[in-house]
Amino acid sequence: MNTFQDLGLNDDLLRAITDIGFITPSDVQAKAIPILLEQDTDLVALAQTGTGKTAAFGFPMLQKINIESRTTQGLILSPTRELCLQITNELKNYGKYCKGFNVAAIYGGASISDQAREVKRGAQIIVATPGRMKDMINRNMVDISKIEYAVLDEADEMLNMGFYEDITDILSHSPKDKNTWLFSATMPKEVSNIAKKFMNSPVEITVGNKNESTNQVSHEYYLVNSRDRYQALKRLADANPDIFSVIFCRTKRDTQKVAEQLIEDGYSAGALHGDLSQNQRDMVMNSFRKNQIQMLVATDVAARGIDVDNITHVINYQLPDEIETYTHRSGRTGRAGKTGVSIVIVSKSELRKIKSIERIINKSFVRKDIPDGMEICEVQLMSLANKIHTTEINPEIEKYLTSINELFEDTSKDELIQKFFSVEFTRFFNYYNKSKNLSVPESRGSDRDGDSGRDFGRSFGGNDDSSRYFINVGKKDGYDWMSLKDFLKEILELGRDDVFKVDVKDSFSFFNTEKGLQEKVLAFFNDYKHNGRFVNVEVSQDQGGATSRNKRRSGGGGRRSDGDFKPRGERRSGGDFKSSGRRSSDASRPRRSGDSSGPNRRDRRAGVAEKSGEASFSRPRQSRR
Ligand code: ADP
Ligand code: MG
Repeated sequence: MNTFQDLGLNDDLLRAITDIGFITPSDVQAKAIPILLEQDTDLVALAQTGTGKTAAFGFPMLQKINIESRTTQGLILSPTRELCLQITNELKNYGKYCKGFNVAAIYGGASISDQAREVKRGAQIIVATPGRMKDMINRNMVDISKIEYAVLDEADEMLNMGFYEDITDILSHSPKDKNTWLFSATMPKEVSNIAKKFMNSPVEITVGNKNESTNQVSHEYYLVNSRDRYQALKRLADANPDIFSVIFCRTKRDTQKVAEQLIEDGYSAGALHGDLSQNQRDMVMNSFRKNQIQMLVATDVAARGIDVDNITHVINYQLPDEIETYTHRSGRTGRAGKTGVSIVIVSKSELRKIKSIERIINKSFVRKDIPDGMEICEVQLMSLANKIHTTEINPEIEKYLTSINELFEDTSKDELIQKFFSVEFTRFFNYYNKSKNLSVPESRGSDRDGDSGRDFGRSFGGNDDSSRYFINVGKKDGYDWMSLKDFLKEILELGRDDVFKVDVKDSFSFFNTEKGLQEKVLAFFNDYKHNGRFVNVEVSQDQGGATSRNKRRSGGGGRRSDGDFKPRGERRSGGDFKSSGRRSSDASRPRRSGDSSGPNRRDRRAGVAEKSGEASFSRPRQSRR
């Protein structure tokens, strides 16, 4: 059976299907639709996200209900408001030629009386989230005592979200002899329990292997130090100029922070999580749907079931607590026959989770290295070149051509191209020129706690990749660690993370740079005078002393001696974003022109991305098609 006709759908539905553009039924549709049309049965269907489950229950329900009647005959429960609205819209599309068909969406955060009115208008089908549904039943605003069909969509997620009681309560108001159709991506014990409790010898269908991710998705992981997680995210975005992605964080707080930071750094990003008002969430989702936001930073709950096609990357900024959740996340990409990439940014201590996920999805991850600065510059340059190559000429330009030509009279084509590209390229080049490599070799992967151990090492000497210097200025000269760090970065023209482990004593100080910068640093201070005095810098032998001193200090929880230092406990408890402490202390200082936190900053200065209290989203850096 490979057409919708073969499945037994009626003409009204077939016409709509043609309009929508579905050509062949998906597996779950081919299996579920004939069963549901021909039999009055309960059904359990297991199929991954993005396999077309909405139509698998939507078409049969539409065909089976009596449109002449205005009684509510079908109830679809779904975990989130977004999903509820999505299903409602799909059903409206499917039923556009079914005259007299009404569907009502019921969800929290919007006017309950408006929703009650929608129902009263004669909605044959109600799509609802459990909380609001229960509320409306208790207030006699809906009547589901005559429904013939109940769908539990994304059942696993509804149970994850703690809706068991609500679902039980709601279904107790519905007739015993209705048919219940349960759809789920995974089949944890809770779901089979609910199937047993509410269903009568259901027909079971499974599409693909249970818990197997969609095939169009490839899985990659990038191993980095925890403290570099955010930098790694930015590089991944910069290395994929056309990225259109959902970035998953574990908590609402981290979600908000990552989004805000991205916006501040000039990216086109937005946050989606439960602490935003419905209005804010709607705005973010609309912008994302219209591709005006390139990076949607979201919690699992808020992003659940979001059906936006063309998502190129799912980025697991932090892995979920429940490994099974990974399947839901990666299912956001690779939809509707497209390919997608699911990326995990991991630290060493989380590496074993990758192995567990591989077992669940039955696929291997490819290990990749975070692109280095020059790779990113090249990608950006070529992307710009391609964009220019395919840009349609705006005829308005013509009237300025004469003056522009005059200006460039003596400029050769090569020179012009170089100048033209430098406008954009220099920004990325300057930012990434001295950037360090973020990838961590896996060979030391057996070291479970290695991640924090390494950070610790990097913060307090003992790392062979860095050089430690002695400098003959200190507190007496009016410096503290922060101002000395700034001073060094400025005169040496280094990036924000290039000077670290700054330890200021009374009349001298220590600091570190990557080893590769040693020659430059020493050469610069060869005969450097500051306020009429020679500043002397030498490579320091005394690494151990600084280490033990700092270690002691860290235990006291006082002012950190160095911006790079994160006490272990703090790093653990606060998640990776605790490290934003350093960023915000940077940010609170006046910015010098060189002190940009990302190559995209320029855009923010130009006022493109506004940071707005809670719902952070920005207009696009460049609008995506
Ligand atoms: P699920 O609920 O299984 O996650 P959806 O019902 O949300 O999946 O469908 C995923 C995407 O696939 C949607 O964009 C939908 O329009 C599209 N789709 C569904 N069925 C078909 C089909 N038969 N042919 C083409 N696209 C389809
Ligand atoms: Mg769905």
